[in-house]
Amino acid sequence: MAEISFNNVSKTYGLTTALKNVSFTCKEGEFFSIFGPSGAGKTTCLELIAGIKGDYTGDIYLGKNNIETMSVQDRNISMAFENYSLYPHFTVFENIAFPLKSPRSKKRSDQEIFNVVKKNATDLGISHLLDRNPSQLSGGQKQRVSLARALVREPEAFLLDEPIAHLDAKLRTVARANLKEIAQRLGTTILYVTHDYREALALSDKIMLLREGKIEQIGSPKELWNNPTSDFVAHMIGDPVMNLIDGQIVEDGGKIFLVSKDLKLILPSKFKNKKVINQENLRLGIRPNDLIASTKSNSKSDLKGKVYGFERKSNFFYTHLMLGDTFIVARSLNDTPLSVGTEINLSFNYDKAFFFKKTFEL
Ligand code: ADP
Ligand code: MG
Repeated sequence: MAEISFNNVSKTYGLTTALKNVSFTCKEGEFFSIFGPSGAGKTTCLELIAGIKGDYTGDIYLGKNNIETMSVQDRNISMAFENYSLYPHFTVFENIAFPLKSPRSKKRSDQEIFNVVKKNATDLGISHLLDRNPSQLSGGQKQRVSLARALVREPEAFLLDEPIAHLDAKLRTVARANLKEIAQRLGTTILYVTHDYREALALSDKIMLLREGKIEQIGSPKELWNNPTSDFVAHMIGDPVMNLIDGQIVEDGGKIFLVSKDLKLILPSKFKNKKVINQENLRLGIRPNDLIASTKSNSKSDLKGKVYGFERKSNFFYTHLMLGDTFIVARSLNDTPLSVGTEINLSFNYDKAFFFKKTFEL
């Protein structure tokens, strides 16, 4: 088992900057997720470690060794990449068994190999497919074969690139639980790439959020959820996504307001002393669960929105509404949709409000 660390790593493809001054450490045995939108540079991180891509600046270490001093074969890492890369003429069994038969692998009897393959295939729910060829598999099945093939080895570290992204929603939930169990059992260093914040939160010890090749935040799932350092991090984590209301906080007649184009929202006086007053490009963030919409008149709230839509997410209901010119999603106390245009009361849990500097257009 080994630690993986990046020290000021940059990588360009022609005019495209894929990674810019990226530094992080994935400790021994840690489940470390690289999370971010498409094109953020996630795959590039793994490809540099694996030696699939080269020509970078900065230093990458696998354990104590700078990977530049190691041949690609000597980097004892196991990979499952997004595009499966299964051997088309091998059966599923042979594909999964392949790493166990390599000359670099320790010698095993056929029975031992069978047991390892069977165990991993069973864990991933593909033990009934062992005789098939890859061409006879669905995308999700291929992905699990690829993952099983990565997991049969006992490497220094696993590099997993969106290994369950192609599964449908239900299977993905099961696969996520399986991965958590497998990760705990193996206890090995895992660098895990995902664009799904749920996976990142559910699986990781640590998450690095990449944005256009740069680190936006590194922290535990709890830190990214509770203390997002930017509007971008806040926007990437949560469903429905955090409401972001652009405006300026001003003092007017001793009271504090958030003022946007079409909205004057009175804030509790505790915001008076915050350094947010009169700050340019301010963005107030509030998660839908900390904003309650109700048709009951609520004396504490003089904030009213107009109903725009409705959705259910598991046991919660959400009303989509317009607050002035701002589109907002709030927890709904009504469990059935209201007519579009209905006026609705909103109550804020101001203790849960975030203040950011606006860094992107919604
Ligand atoms: P992610 O995995 O987060 O979606 P990638 O690491 O694949 O992102 O890509 C990061 C950036 O580098 C993107 O802008 C992508 O278009 C670019 N890129 C990746 N591979 C190549 C390549 N072989 N040639 C040119 N540009 C590339
Ligand atoms: Mg990728």
